[in-house]
Amino acid sequence: MRVTTPTNPGHVGHITIDREIEVVELDAGEAPTRLIADPNGETVGVPPLTLNKILSKMAIIVPCKNEPPETIRGVLTGIPKSCTIILVSNSRRAHSEDRYAREAAILQEFCKHGRKALAIHQKDPCAAAAICSAGMPELLDAARLIRNGKGEGMILGLAVVAALCPDVQYVGFVDADSKIPGSTHEYCRIFASGFAVSGHPSPSEDEHVMVRVHWSAKPKVREGRIDFSVAEGRSSCVVNYWLNRYLNLVWEGHAAQVTTANAGEHAMTMSLALKMRMAGGYAIEPFHYVDLLKRQLNLVATPNTSPPASVIGSEGVHSDSDSVTSSDSSSSYSSSLESIPVRVMQIRSLNPHFHNETGDDHITAMWGTGLSTIYHHLLDSSEYDDKMADLKSEMEEFVMEKTGNMNSLHPPMVYPPLEVLDLPLLASGLQRATSLQQI
Ligand code: GDP
Repeated sequence: MRVTTPTNPGHVGHITIDREIEVVELDAGEAPTRLIADPNGETVGVPPLTLNKILSKMAIIVPCKNEPPETIRGVLTGIPKSCTIILVSNSRRAHSEDRYAREAAILQEFCKHGRKALAIHQKDPCAAAAICSAGMPELLDAARLIRNGKGEGMILGLAVVAALCPDVQYVGFVDADSKIPGSTHEYCRIFASGFAVSGHPSPSEDEHVMVRVHWSAKPKVREGRIDFSVAEGRSSCVVNYWLNRYLNLVWEGHAAQVTTANAGEHAMTMSLALKMRMAGGYAIEPFHYVDLLKRQLNLVATPNTSPPASVIGSEGVHSDSDSVTSSDSSSSYSSSLESIPVRVMQIRSLNPHFHNETGDDHITAMWGTGLSTIYHHLLDSSEYDDKMADLKSEMEEFVMEKTGNMNSLHPPMVYPPLEVLDLPLLASGLQRATSLQQI
């Protein structure tokens, strides 16, 4: 794969956010394992051997809820063979129709020629018990099951990788509703290319890197024709806009435009995945940015104080995850992430993304979640007080104008990082999960 060379990154505290990188060639040829820059330095080729080396240490988590079986099968077929597949399903399980059993059978059949995979159901009581006893009771609802929500499913997937896949060094996420297997394939290769360009695999693999995919287009069907000119989803354009407004207040020197606030397709080094706090539901993706920024900036703004509990968490309700009324789930937790450099790479694909068209209510809920994630996690340093207050009131005006009420601004659920978990205990608990299928 050949991509444009990263240039002029933006910096905030210890975070580096690259300007968008573009894929320019899907296959950079059978070259040696080193990266090959072109003579002008404009692009860099990542040879297949390097890609495969990284992909063989990567798990791809596929969160799934009631997607059509043929769509799930298509997504699986796009995942490179050397990756470990982790299917985390929250699909309906009823006597009349056990969709999960069907999904697990599809995975089993797909992997019969020697692929590594695991499947687990989000509502498996043993999975919930394992997570709880290993140290993250916040993930459970009143029924003592793992909460509903895409983010909660992704956290379960990460916990499965951390406990049961000790050789995995990189973890990527792809949605189960993509209609084009070739797009999924490109996303996984983009993940590996991002890590390669950032210096992986290398002796010091604990460098924290996140790779986020910006789809080249999100085509729409209009009057019977496919319109490929739609560059950005209706939710992404809102969330990217407000995230960039926020970033423009805090950049040090260069500013880099964020184009991937809602990137469902993203990957990170496992070392970073264990340290990141994660949000529930659809807040999980935008929360990566705002939480990294907040934790770093509060440290920069108030260097003599340890990361205050008040900035390390909040919890609330979310439209696609379960309502909660308990207090802050992760406020007492402070991780080592505040002082460690993190690089965020944004890479634009060549393939477009096709998935089922969703209705206006879903779109409003999605951008509402993204906005509330930013709104409730703005920097709380006196140095920025006035700017943050002005931004907040502009966001409130925007929400009132679009929806007529402030309901969209519910704070998202936020969970502690996975490094709180007792992994041996989690591993033995997960082995008792009846829905767990290991291939
Ligand atoms: P959109 O594609 O971003 O509009 O959002 P979707 O609602 O289609 O969800 C994105 C992905 O998350 C799809 O693969 C869904 O099947 C999956 N998903 C949604 N809710 C849940 C959930 O509660 N648990 C799990 N495990 N996956 C979910």
